[in-house]
Amino acid sequence: MSSPPPDLDLIVREIAAEMRLRTDRGEAAKYIPELAGVDVNQFGLAVIDREGVVHKGGDADVPFSIQSISKVFTLTLALGLVGDRLWKRVGREPSGDPFNSIVQLEHERGIPRNPFINAGAIAVTDALLSGHQPKETLGEILRFLHFVAEDPSIRMDEAVAASEKRTGFRNFALANYMKSFGVLENPVELALGVYFHHCSIAMSCIQLAMAGRYLAYGGRNPTTGLSVISAERARRINALMLTCGHYDGSGEFAYRVGLPGKSGVGGGILAVAPGRASIAVWAPGLDRWGNSHLGRIALEHLAKRTGWSIFG
Ligand code: GLU
Repeated sequence: MSSPPPDLDLIVREIAAEMRLRTDRGEAAKYIPELAGVDVNQFGLAVIDREGVVHKGGDADVPFSIQSISKVFTLTLALGLVGDRLWKRVGREPSGDPFNSIVQLEHERGIPRNPFINAGAIAVTDALLSGHQPKETLGEILRFLHFVAEDPSIRMDEAVAASEKRTGFRNFALANYMKSFGVLENPVELALGVYFHHCSIAMSCIQLAMAGRYLAYGGRNPTTGLSVISAERARRINALMLTCGHYDGSGEFAYRVGLPGKSGVGGGILAVAPGRASIAVWAPGLDRWGNSHLGRIALEHLAKRTGWSIFG
C-alpha cells in the first residue's frame, strides 16, 4: 500500500515556524557591501507541487538577491545557444574548492571545473554575450525568467550590481586569468558587467520556485505542458546541481538533503524534487561554505518529512 501524500501546507508552515525560533542564523555575505546589511532574521520557503499549488511559509514573497542561483538559468540559456560546445570551455566536475577560488585555474589552463563556481559561471556568461551587446544578453536572461516564472515583474537590482562591481576583485582576477588563456571571448569588463547584473536579480521564494519548475518536471511547465528544454537537458542540469550546486559544501548538501540544489550568497537555495516539487528557500545567514545555513537545515527537514530524497 502506498503511503498518503505529505501534507505540504502543514509541513511548510511548521518548518517556517521552527526556523523562526532558531538562534543559529549564520552571517550575511560581507564581501558584497549591499548584502552585508540584510537582516538575517528573515526566512522564507515555497514549495510548488505537480498540480501547481504553491505551499508557502514565512517571508516567501519577499524578494532577495538570487546571486549564484542565476547560474542555473544562464547555464540553461547557454546550452540552448551553443549546445555541447559549451563543455569545451567549462568542465562538469565538482571542484571541492570555495566558490571564488583561483587555484585550479592554473593547473587546468584556464578551464573552470564546472559552470557553478564563479570562474565557470563567468565563462558561461561570456558564451551568452558573444555576438551581443551586454544589454541584449541581460534582456534575454530577464525575459527567460519572466517566461519560466510567469512573472514579468522580476528585475535586476542596480545597487547590488554596482556594489559587487566595486568590490569584485576576485572575480576580476578570475576573469583576467581565464582571458589570458583565451577562454573568454569578450572584454573582461563586459563579461563581468553581465555577470554582476545577473547575480543581482531579485526574486522571492515563490518566484524562484515557479522559475525552477522546468527542472523538476522533465524540462516542462507542468501546468501548461509547454516545453522549456528537453528532458535530457533538465536531467543533466539537475545532475550538475547535485554535484556542484553548493561549492565545496556540495557533498554535505547531498548527504543531508539528497536533492539537486543551487545556492547563492544572498541566502537563497533553489532545490528540485524531480517529478514532485520545485522548492525555494531563503535565509540570508550563511555557513562557512557560503551557503544558506538555515536554508540547508530547512531543506533537510523538508526532505526527511516528505521522503523526497532522490536516494530513496
Ligand atoms: N555574485 C557572487 C560572486 O560572484 C555570487 C557568489 C554566490 O552567490 O555564491 O561572488
